[in-house]
Amino acid sequence: MKKQLSLLAGLLLFAGVPLGAQTIFPHPLSPRNANYRIEARLTPASKTVHGEETLTWRNIMKVSATELQFHLYMNAFRNEKSTFRKEGTVRIRNFNSKLKPPGGVDILEMNLADGASLLDSIEYIHPDDDNAEDSTVIRVPLPEPVQPGESVTLNIKFETRMPRIVARTGVRGKFFFMGQWFPKVGVWQENGRWNCHQFHTNSEFFSDYGVYDVRLTVPKEFIVGATGIRTDESETDSTKTLTYHAEDVHDFAWTAWPDFRIEERKVEGVAVRLLYAPENSMNVERYFDAIGNALKYFSQWYMPYPYPNLTIVDGPVYAQQAMGMEYPTLITGGSIWHGPKGVKIASEEVTVHEFGHQYFYGILGSNEFEEAWLDEGFNSYATSRVMNKAYGKHASMLDMLGFKGGDLDMMRAGYLSNAKKDIVVKPAWQYKTGGYGTFSYNKPAVLLTTLERYLGAEVMSKIMKTYFARFKFTHPTTRDFIAVVNEIAPQNMDWYFQQALFDSRVVDYDVRRISFKNITPKSDTSGVKTYKSTVQIYRNGEFIIPVDIRVIFENQDTVRTTWDGKSRYKVLEFRKPAKIVSAEVDPEHKLVLDVNYTNNTRTFHPNKQAFLKLRVTALQIVQSLYMFFSF
Ligand SMILES: [Zn+2]
Repeated sequence: MKKQLSLLAGLLLFAGVPLGAQTIFPHPLSPRNANYRIEARLTPASKTVHGEETLTWRNIMKVSATELQFHLYMNAFRNEKSTFRKEGTVRIRNFNSKLKPPGGVDILEMNLADGASLLDSIEYIHPDDDNAEDSTVIRVPLPEPVQPGESVTLNIKFETRMPRIVARTGVRGKFFFMGQWFPKVGVWQENGRWNCHQFHTNSEFFSDYGVYDVRLTVPKEFIVGATGIRTDESETDSTKTLTYHAEDVHDFAWTAWPDFRIEERKVEGVAVRLLYAPENSMNVERYFDAIGNALKYFSQWYMPYPYPNLTIVDGPVYAQQAMGMEYPTLITGGSIWHGPKGVKIASEEVTVHEFGHQYFYGILGSNEFEEAWLDEGFNSYATSRVMNKAYGKHASMLDMLGFKGGDLDMMRAGYLSNAKKDIVVKPAWQYKTGGYGTFSYNKPAVLLTTLERYLGAEVMSKIMKTYFARFKFTHPTTRDFIAVVNEIAPQNMDWYFQQALFDSRVVDYDVRRISFKNITPKSDTSGVKTYKSTVQIYRNGEFIIPVDIRVIFENQDTVRTTWDGKSRYKVLEFRKPAKIVSAEVDPEHKLVLDVNYTNNTRTFHPNKQAFLKLRVTALQIVQSLYMFFSF
């Protein structure tokens, strides 16, 4: 173990340098109740980070807090008995089957500002399961409660051992990615309880906002990327020390690798720094193109990107398990060496998606453990919109060898494979037999697009802008979003969310039969024939939602009508001087939730269903790829 700076020396160092003197925002954007100063030193040989953390936590609830709780996420990789390891062999995040080396974080000291040690009162807890072997959450009873509005400061000395890359964090060779590497305080709630879940295979994170001042010391040859803006840099013979400052963020991640290449450009007014593996240099333009589109549309559609900068990390191929992840102002991509331009999943889609997380979980800090759809689902919906806008509606993911597929097409294909399996709103770790991906990413993208098409793009835009304006830099819930929808939509939409979010029922409208009969009276000698045309439409699914119907007749006459879908079937009859040619439900494809498009149309003309089938197959191939990369 390398020599550590003493706590006092660390504090004096901080006192000597005007950390935080450089401010980013003239006024705080968030409550800033979880503020960190961290001094960290990376020792590559032992794959360890030694840190000294000063947490200043303010109680912003109306109930006093008698204890603090912390996430020690890195302990998920400490042994095979952690909840993370026991739960997961299914998801790619846990693809790395061996923990060689294992990871872990140890708290070496924990003192109050007056020097009183809390070390002996630390207790491991397991709020989500009975796994006594799990050490990803601790509680720390305080000698004095923290009253509403008051703050407490803790000095914590810790040692983090980086595992071989797993779940987006760790080390391979000299490539380090430090995600979830420091003791992070949970979220104190109005109900007088901490929200501080264990690290699960299928769950991400939840934290309060604050200001981070982080000083990183690494061997001199390492190139570093980190959350926030770099405010200072100094060197010794063998090391360099970089200081970062971030405001109104809820996490801090960093990467260090001697072989990064750097490309810096101003994009849409934001300083973008791309750190990439030399072998991926052919993808640099694709990254900047994608981030340009993402910055432009997210800023236009939701709210301007608030931070001055963004770092994108594209690591070497052997570190792909660290790629495809998001942290405040720092995202990891995942380009494929010589990946074909027609396949946008690796460079463009991942970049847009991970950038989108600056908004969903970044600016809107929803609880990723308990309501993952608010983060991954909204982001998948928004990513599809950007991809389709920038790269073509049915070609934004795949446009190669005659096969085409759009981002939303792919989202829907993924939903179809699993549609009735589970529901959207439930804690991430409770998808015990799979389905987390389908119900956190795919179905939400599909149900939000259906909502957009049902209400109209203008109403949806107003909903999304209001949702951001009202809840930015807080922790909105599903109920908060529904309340915004109900306020802005012309009708109460509870009926929709009840079925789409809290139930597994599916939409499936079926034009089962069309027929016509010559009913021209024998007495009619005019030569004009009259036909009775009949259309039978069934609701095969239990999901009830109004559906548009279009009926076309031989003389080009077109009838449009809407059925509320409440009964099991509907029979339409027409008496016209022309035979029916076709009937279609949902002709504008508003109901992306419909699980079977092939029964939407009946026609007396040859149809294009064979072609449709081919496209679905192509989409399923892309879908499998997508699940493999699983971000
Ligand atoms: Zn994501």
